[in-house]
Amino acid sequence: MDKIIVLIGAPGAGKGTQARLLQERRGIPQISTGDMFREMQTLDTPLAREVQEIMASGKYVPDELTSRMVKERTDRDDTKNGYVLDGYPRTLPQVEFLEELAKESNKTIEVIEVDVPKDELMRRLTGRRNCPVCGELYNIYSRPPANDNFCDLHPQSELKQRSDDKEESVRTRLETYERETEPLIDYYATSGRLKKVDGSGEVEDIYREVENLIN
Ligand code: AMP
Repeated sequence: MDKIIVLIGAPGAGKGTQARLLQERRGIPQISTGDMFREMQTLDTPLAREVQEIMASGKYVPDELTSRMVKERTDRDDTKNGYVLDGYPRTLPQVEFLEELAKESNKTIEVIEVDVPKDELMRRLTGRRNCPVCGELYNIYSRPPANDNFCDLHPQSELKQRSDDKEESVRTRLETYERETEPLIDYYATSGRLKKVDGSGEVEDIYREVENLIN
């Protein structure tokens, strides 16, 4: 496959879940800028601290840094037959960067919008918890763990909330998305590269739709 699949959608729409499934089941490498930044946060460097502050506030990391990271990652060999981008591009300069990257590597860009109503996004994000040991995802509203705030698979492991899933950061993230990223959907629609899935149903149903669209 010589495609770059871009999953676009608001925070909490489920882009990460779908990208992970494509990687697991179809072997298409998932490239998530959000995950890359979270990994970076584990380092104790001035840059890592700066990124951590930006993320916790719900704003975007500067384009230059973000695009350089994507470039480095996509230079690796495993991406030569295509990859899924989850959370990139999010701004117009990033769109332009990706157009260049696609041209250089002779790949086409296909965009899938994962669409979820705004009120549902709020519940998904502020309710989200994860197990720090295995990464299993829960939601205190729609998928609570059996035992209070502990992982079903690791009963000793207390669930954590991402610092940017706190209510105030979530509001900023949704506003930033509407202002900076939503316009990209029109851009890709105009150039005939946009497809859309309804992201409000069951994970497996959405995955089936996504798979149909990329085939
Ligand atoms: P995500 O896990 O995709 O929701 O990303 C979490 C946070 O990482 C975002 O709120 C931003 O602060 C940062 N981030 C991830 N991807 C990008 C991007 N493409 N451009 C700028 N900031 C990003």
